[in-house]
Amino acid sequence: MQFAARTDRGRKRPTNQDSHYAAYAPPEKAETHGHLFIVADGMGGHAAGEVASRLATDVVRAEYYHAELSPGEDPAPALRAALEAANGRILQEGERDPRRRGMGTTCTAVVVRGPRAWFAHAGDSRAYLCRGRMLRQITNDHNLAGALVAEGKLTLQEATQHEGSHILTRALGVREAVEIDVNRTSLELAPGDLLLLCSDGLIRVLADADLEVILGAADIEAAADELIRSANERGGPDNITVVLVRIGSAGNGGTPPTAANGPLDEAAAR
Ligand code: CA
Repeated sequence: MQFAARTDRGRKRPTNQDSHYAAYAPPEKAETHGHLFIVADGMGGHAAGEVASRLATDVVRAEYYHAELSPGEDPAPALRAALEAANGRILQEGERDPRRRGMGTTCTAVVVRGPRAWFAHAGDSRAYLCRGRMLRQITNDHNLAGALVAEGKLTLQEATQHEGSHILTRALGVREAVEIDVNRTSLELAPGDLLLLCSDGLIRVLADADLEVILGAADIEAAADELIRSANERGGPDNITVVLVRIGSAGNGGTPPTAANGPLDEAAAR
């Protein structure tokens, strides 16, 4: 497994309110917990967005790796609990400091353990699987446009340009109870598969077809650079964060995605 991560302020925003976490697991946790990757996109004035997204990555990482897991145990409950803990911490911090009241953040996390991946997600950052140069969105967008997609009234491609895409329906740090999407069954990975986690600053300016071309690069470090460069070249209207994870040896990319590995199921959310 290889990974590459980049974050960039973009060209229009004065600060970068995105945070991310990308690292190999501590050696003693690799077998039980696998490797955790996170993207969070914060919101809130007076630098509160940065605080919220940073708390999300810090708390999710700490809580997840502190959870008791035995080899082979389903890590999804621990991952969900880690996002719920982050929700509580951000809410608490917002109540403690009036300047930070109302801050919140998206959070998209994936655990890669052996040939499998587990996702946990709230908000409108995204996780994709790129297999054989075909891109598939794993997460649902928790914004008003995403709700229209779920109802079949809008295509995924139309959703990124829709005005409702700016209004989040779920985020960490906003309410005491937050619904976290967790996939019911883990996603089975094939050698050469590429996972992409990203904030909306990437997908508002790059279409799936653009992403597929860039992700076709043999070198994921170069691909990560090119994602940031292309988003900025198209105006860089928002902060841009990308985390790329390549599975196994770079091969020709296994079989195309199947319907059996559908998007995260609402019914699987609590
Ligand atoms: Ca954003």
